[in-house]
Amino acid sequence: MLRKIIKSIFIISLAFETYAEVKELTILHTNDLHAHLFPRIAPWISESRKIGGFANLATLVKQEKQLNPNNILIDAGDYFSGPYISTLTEGEAVIKSMNFLGIDAACIGNHEFDHGWDNMLEQIQKAEFPILNGNLFFEGTDQLVWDNPYLILERLGLKIGIIGLHGKFAFYDTINFKMTEGIEARDEEEYLRKYIEELKPITDLIILAVHQGMPGRQSTVGLTDVERNLYKDILLAKNVPGVDIIVTGHAHQGTEKALVSNGTIIVSTNATATELGKLQIKYDTEKKRIVSHSNELITIFDDELEDDPDMLQEITFWQEEVDQIAKVPVIPLTKKLVRSYGKESNMGNLFADAIESFDERIDIAVVNSGALRQDIEAGTITKGDLISAFPFPNTVVMTKLKGSQVRKIFNHAAGMTNGILQVSKNAKYSFTPREKVNDIWIKGKLIDDNSEYWVAAPNFVTQGGDGYWEFQNSIEYQDSGILIVDVAENYLKNKDVYEPEYGERVQIIR
Ligand code: FE
Repeated sequence: MLRKIIKSIFIISLAFETYAEVKELTILHTNDLHAHLFPRIAPWISESRKIGGFANLATLVKQEKQLNPNNILIDAGDYFSGPYISTLTEGEAVIKSMNFLGIDAACIGNHEFDHGWDNMLEQIQKAEFPILNGNLFFEGTDQLVWDNPYLILERLGLKIGIIGLHGKFAFYDTINFKMTEGIEARDEEEYLRKYIEELKPITDLIILAVHQGMPGRQSTVGLTDVERNLYKDILLAKNVPGVDIIVTGHAHQGTEKALVSNGTIIVSTNATATELGKLQIKYDTEKKRIVSHSNELITIFDDELEDDPDMLQEITFWQEEVDQIAKVPVIPLTKKLVRSYGKESNMGNLFADAIESFDERIDIAVVNSGALRQDIEAGTITKGDLISAFPFPNTVVMTKLKGSQVRKIFNHAAGMTNGILQVSKNAKYSFTPREKVNDIWIKGKLIDDNSEYWVAAPNFVTQGGDGYWEFQNSIEYQDSGILIVDVAENYLKNKDVYEPEYGERVQIIR
């Protein structure tokens, strides 16, 4: 009798199982790969073991997809701009290499515009994987710049809608507006609602790949306040119900544990191809929702993974293409050049000093910390090192400003989170983070609100990037058209050796 009961319970539960099935799915995710095609030392992870690289990443993705062919790989944008290989090929090397990663869907990030929107379009057409965006339009038209807002994939019998968007704020905040002339970003919330409405009736799950929020940290060591850095995603999920999963980029903020906002799971990695995100979900077909999930960030250790041969061949080809330019030695370097987001850095000092020396009229030069993307090891600085350190095709702009305007600019810098202003040796300032600038000295004297000064900076900032609009009100404005990397190269070539320096140029008052 008992056996009979057990047997019937077993049969009932079996029947129930097939009726209410729980399906297990893995969403692999990356973001802000930033052209890190090759493994390198990332000191915040390990001082001795190399990390990352596309050939290792491709192997890891393949292993995961062999484990479960239903896995999906989603990238949340910013594949361009990082090591010189991207700058020198205007992103082509990156897109062509990404073709070997096994990406199922990617969205567009702000850095894809670093060489102009027309170049962006030209390059992403070479992608053999779907790239999605649904809220960037040609100004004043209903024509999407890249007409592919979403796609539907089928896995385990589930229909999965994947939408791609770019945060409106991030678009205007972090792209040099000359690069996006004629293009506008429209409200991501509005378009997310629209696409959800279209997808909801025909899909089981909706995933959003989005590039938005707080700009990526650009320090060797940075903040890890996850919720603060991903606040924009938390808010988006709160304001727009209906998304099951958000894969986000831009903040360079990894989620060891996925965040959950209004029922939406939010994941991201710490960027620059140092890790692969792996979100595992259980989807209940009866409840029609995800019933459990877990996320992990798998660090890509070079010594643990074999290079994927196809990828290795591709990235080696591109490396050889650019080496002729990149390997040219510029000058011996006595100490490592390090960048910093929240304080004075010896790398910031180098670039600011180079710009200051560009024209003798210049009183001071400033550089946005976010422009500096890679440290340079002691030894010999090569042209490639300089491009990797400052990968953007920014030019030197000279502006004549009143002292009060200079103060306004420094106040703006002090109040925001996009990194401090790095300054040349003729400048010194003290500031209270997130509040205001205290004192500014130019050539050893306190700034005079009514005097006029020549301030030089990368055209990214003088054109209003990072919100530095005050440069647009300058008394005189001269764009030299000369690339900052070339200015830095010439500055260094005039010396026998370069000794990095700190000069107490920036004082933080708390
Ligand atoms: Fe970004």
